[in-house]
Amino acid sequence: MASNSEPANEGLRPSPSLGAPSPRERGEAENIVIVGAGIIGICAAAYLAEAGRSVMLIDRTGICEETSSGNAAAFAFSDVLPLAQKGMIRQLPKWLADPLGPLAIPPGYLPKLLPWLIRFWRAGSPRNYEASLAAQASLMKLAEAEWMGLMERSGTRKMLREDGSLELYESEAEFSASLPGWSARGRFGIAFRHVAGGELAELQPGLSPRFVKGTFVPGWKTVADPKLLGKAVWGHAEAHGAKFVQGDVGLVMRSKDQVVVQLRGGRTIMAQHLVVAAGAWSHLLARQLGERIPLETERGYNTTLPRTAFVVKRQLIFSGHGFVITPLDTGLRVGGAVELAGLRRPPNFARSRAMLEKAKQFLPGLDPSGGREWMGFRPSLPDSLPVIGRSQAADNMVYAFGHGHLGLTQAAATGRLIRDLVVGQSPAIDLAPFSPQRF
Ligand SMILES: Cc1cc2nc3c(=O)[nH]c(=O)nc-3n(C[C@H](O)[C@H](O)[C@H](O)COP(=O)(O)OP(=O)(O)OC[C@H]3O[C@@H](n4cnc5c(N)ncnc54)[C@H](O)[C@@H]3O)c2cc1C
Repeated sequence: MASNSEPANEGLRPSPSLGAPSPRERGEAENIVIVGAGIIGICAAAYLAEAGRSVMLIDRTGICEETSSGNAAAFAFSDVLPLAQKGMIRQLPKWLADPLGPLAIPPGYLPKLLPWLIRFWRAGSPRNYEASLAAQASLMKLAEAEWMGLMERSGTRKMLREDGSLELYESEAEFSASLPGWSARGRFGIAFRHVAGGELAELQPGLSPRFVKGTFVPGWKTVADPKLLGKAVWGHAEAHGAKFVQGDVGLVMRSKDQVVVQLRGGRTIMAQHLVVAAGAWSHLLARQLGERIPLETERGYNTTLPRTAFVVKRQLIFSGHGFVITPLDTGLRVGGAVELAGLRRPPNFARSRAMLEKAKQFLPGLDPSGGREWMGFRPSLPDSLPVIGRSQAADNMVYAFGHGHLGLTQAAATGRLIRDLVVGQSPAIDLAPFSPQRF
């Protein structure tokens, strides 16, 4: 082992949560390294630190600084429909024809993407779709309960906005096409109400008359700002003894019953457990452990306008155009889109601008000036389910990634499940549909 190796619990403070001595005080080497300080790694750190474990969270940038910082802020607990069916395949030809439309695939990236696309297509078969839907619904039920609990414990409940969402349709045909999806959600007890006329105008004043109908989902929630929430939850984890190390993990491997984590630049860290929560880069680490997981990235774009740009009463969803508008405490965020273009290509912010132009048409009173453009990397698996489970390399290495469009929504549930796995409790839900070995 390199001479600069060190125990992952070096310097950790005692956990105040249980009033019990920390693992270090007890002389145990019960330490956990989590790679990735996005919302998934942060929540895993919070749950493990609350359980009295010593946790080291490693990220090359910082706490909640990348994809988890700039998303659309939705706790989309009712969003249980797998993407492979959710109107997406039907819309593909129309969307792909528009270079700045809701879905883009650079032709040069297509050969690399093809195996993922084939899996995505297969995930849309009736049997696979139903299985993913049931699994997603079970995770969402846990997601809501766990976020409400974690928000209470971390003092972040005040960041929750409970004003529902409004999905909008430009024609009767578009509305009718959405109905099977709504009845599927209804089967899982998700409440919604179709609205039109005066009720629609009241739910969002100032909408263009091109919208003829809407669906109001009262249980949909958003947060004041996803970056601030991530940092606040980290503050809670830190108060329970978790420690952050900035570093780029170049290598993970097993050494006897321990885990070796090597940072670029030479530092080596030994740990008892490893959690890979590295978002869209996680498959690169899994590959080092001998596992090939078909993770792709669905890049997404947005623009955050000043709060004064327009009064938006709740999150507005324009599914036919692949974007949403979210009122945040820190601004008005307009964005979405899916660009299947891998991890390396430079961003094309013309996408952000195309969505902003549409937003101006949909809310004619909107002031589109003074915005900040952003791109993030959704970590996506072809069946729309994340990977939550043990690596085949060793029981003390677990994966928590691939949450696609729903990472914020499912982060607390994932943290809970990772805690269950690491401490050896039986998981709160059946993890078979989320197995890393399902592909
Ligand atoms: C436009 C857009 C809108 C979205 N809206 C929503 C929404 O409204 N609701 C919702 O639930 N979800 C939404 N999402 C999805 C959500 O943002 C993601 O699923 C979630 O942020 C993924 O979190 P993560 O922790 O897995 O990954 P990330 O936030 O990407 O964090 C992973 C971290 O790991 C680090 N890392 C990677 N490799 C290494 C390494 N080798 N060494 C050190 N560090 C490493 C990265 O630097 C990064 O900081 C949206 C996404 C986009 C792009």
